[in-house]
Amino acid sequence: MKNLYIDFDGVIMDTIDISYQELKLIGLDAKNIYDQEKIRDYYVGLDWNQMLNKKASIINDAFDCIKKIIDSGRFEVMILSHVNSLSEAEEKIKYIRKYLKDITIIPVPRRVSKTQMVHTEDAILIDDYVENLKEWKEAGGIGIKFSTELNGKGFVVIDRLDQILDIL
Ligand SMILES: [Mg+2]
Repeated sequence: MKNLYIDFDGVIMDTIDISYQELKLIGLDAKNIYDQEKIRDYYVGLDWNQMLNKKASIINDAFDCIKKIIDSGRFEVMILSHVNSLSEAEEKIKYIRKYLKDITIIPVPRRVSKTQMVHTEDAILIDDYVENLKEWKEAGGIGIKFSTELNGKGFVVIDRLDQILDIL
């Protein structure tokens, strides 16, 4: 059974879209390298309880899809999520536990590569951030791009998590 790691932000929930909108409102551009320090401060100070429970939405039935993938018995499914603070990790765990009682959740410190946290060889990562996928591939893993615009940027792309059952 292959290990399948699923990213959280921008794959399970649309927290990326919401936070980018908020950054724009305070005059910061997520793609501008000169804004990066202030952006990090924004994420460190973010109220993740509010973000997850009041602002963000689940993308394309993500939790139902994950249950379906687990029930297929084909993958050992885990959630691998970058976090900027311990409270972010706590709130994400609390939130995920409302839907999935027994899944492994691995919070990754923002400045550490996901490849440094888990065994990557032949493992699958579904992620919306192409840099993570490049690192993953270099570390011997299989990268699948998640994109609601179906923009794969060189990787196989899905816009609903249970599509993984059709392509692998
Ligand atoms: Mg992401």
